[in-house]
Amino acid sequence: MIENLKQASPYHSKIVKVGDTMILVVFGAPGVGKGTQAELLSQRKGIPHLSTGAALRQAITEGTELGKTAKSYVEAGRLVPDEIVTGIVRETLAGAEYTQGCILDGFPRTRSQAEALDEILRETNREIDCVINVDVDGDEIVQRMLKRGRQDDTEEIIRERLAIYNASTMPLLEYYKERGKLCTIDGNAEIEEVYERISSVMQNSL
Ligand code: ADP
Repeated sequence: MIENLKQASPYHSKIVKVGDTMILVVFGAPGVGKGTQAELLSQRKGIPHLSTGAALRQAITEGTELGKTAKSYVEAGRLVPDEIVTGIVRETLAGAEYTQGCILDGFPRTRSQAEALDEILRETNREIDCVINVDVDGDEIVQRMLKRGRQDDTEEIIRERLAIYNASTMPLLEYYKERGKLCTIDGNAEIEEVYERISSVMQNSL
């Protein structure tokens, strides 16, 4: 089922588009396949992709100062402090290749991050076009993550990440719904089918 709340929204007419800039947020619980979909969208639509999780994992692997600070949070399945993650996003979005837009994956995850993102975009006369909420059943999520086998994908850490998602991130659905930005798609399907669902929601939000 595709639910495009934006079409019915009174905020719709207020969306200001500058050139072909497209700012998309791929949103959902850990393990719903945000990263896979964000990567496909980026490749096929030619919009650069920013995954805060991937950026943090890379910093950890490289042993940078950022990586050293982030390591304990990521390994425990906790959120890295807002100012650190917001700093990564601010810096990245200032880069030349991002003037044409961005697909954000794993950000924002808290109310403070969502407000910071609005502010960062406002400073450059941009705003979010669409928040695509990928909705997947709870049991399926845990199965997908256990298959993925990343270091922070043990059952205990997955439980912690889901609890944090429910407490801190899920309330953002209301934030974006109120602002007419939210599009929810059913993510209980194969990768290509989910991609098609997202793609058609994107057409509607242009
Ligand atoms: P998933 O969505 O499957 O949890 P991610 O790659 O998006 O995977 O995130 C992995 C970890 O990176 C998170 O558990 C958290 O520790 C950290 N992280 C990623 N994005 C953020 C963010 N926006 N704010 C705080 N921490 C983050």
